[in-house]
Amino acid sequence: MSDAQAYIGRFAPSPTGPLHVGSLVAAVASWLDARAAGGRWLLRMEDLDRPRCDQVSADTILRQLEVYGLTWDGAVLYQSQRDDAYAATLHALRSQGAVFACACSRSQLAQAPRNAEGEIIYPGACRLHVVPRNEKHAWRVRVEEVSAHFTDRIHGALQQNLAREVGDFVVRRADGLFAYQLAVVVDDAFQGVTHVVRGADLLWNTPRQVYLQTLLGLPTPAYAHVPLVTNAAGQKLSKQTLAPALPERGRRAVLAQALAALGHPPPSDLVGAGPRDLLAWATARWCIDNVPLHPTIAKPLP
Ligand code: GLU
Repeated sequence: MSDAQAYIGRFAPSPTGPLHVGSLVAAVASWLDARAAGGRWLLRMEDLDRPRCDQVSADTILRQLEVYGLTWDGAVLYQSQRDDAYAATLHALRSQGAVFACACSRSQLAQAPRNAEGEIIYPGACRLHVVPRNEKHAWRVRVEEVSAHFTDRIHGALQQNLAREVGDFVVRRADGLFAYQLAVVVDDAFQGVTHVVRGADLLWNTPRQVYLQTLLGLPTPAYAHVPLVTNAAGQKLSKQTLAPALPERGRRAVLAQALAALGHPPPSDLVGAGPRDLLAWATARWCIDNVPLHPTIAKPLP
């Protein structure tokens, strides 16, 4: 990019457990993309879902990033401290008439059709229904029957009809917690993020985020979704699939595995190099066109 300083990237882990090889791939990709462009790389803890997140996991993630050489710029932003900003944004959406209260229960929605990602397509039950003030309710954004177009730097030009494939989506949950879709849009804008590089499991969340950016008059960053890492059974690595935490010993081999998953396998003469040398090697060669679309299967950790 012409003004290298203008690049601002970010990594936004959810502190529900330690990082694993899959989250390392996303972190390394966004770090390399930022550093190769001479940009800044910010860190944001997505600790919105208070019951599922904890400070021990957040501290473990910071330590893991440090020992893997993934240095960040500035102070870490914690979403648990950003409720005022999210509330102000919800207020702005309410003033525009862009959201409505929804009192549908989980069991009522259980019968609704699902999209290819397995998410419920909201059937619109509360769109025209006035929810009594004292009834527990979520807030949903009303979506239009139009195709949203967006371009991913790895996946190319894509489109999604939000009304048909997602439906009106939640921006504040019935338990009072703000939803990921709202918080990510508010914070990407607040932190001045120009480039989002994250895991491919979030690819089809992008149209919802672009839709909110448009409603709120916020800029849309460039998006790139990097391949997931799966276990031998083809499941995405996660806490639920019992993915092992990144080890402190054997970091080189793990980092080499992450770089290979991103289409940048380090040469054998670098096998003895430490994390910082491996990252410097990859920064000098980083080319997003070499990142494959397909997921990789995790190798056993050292
Ligand atoms: N918190 C999400 C994760 O850990 C990332 C969200 C994002 O990058 O927008 O997968």
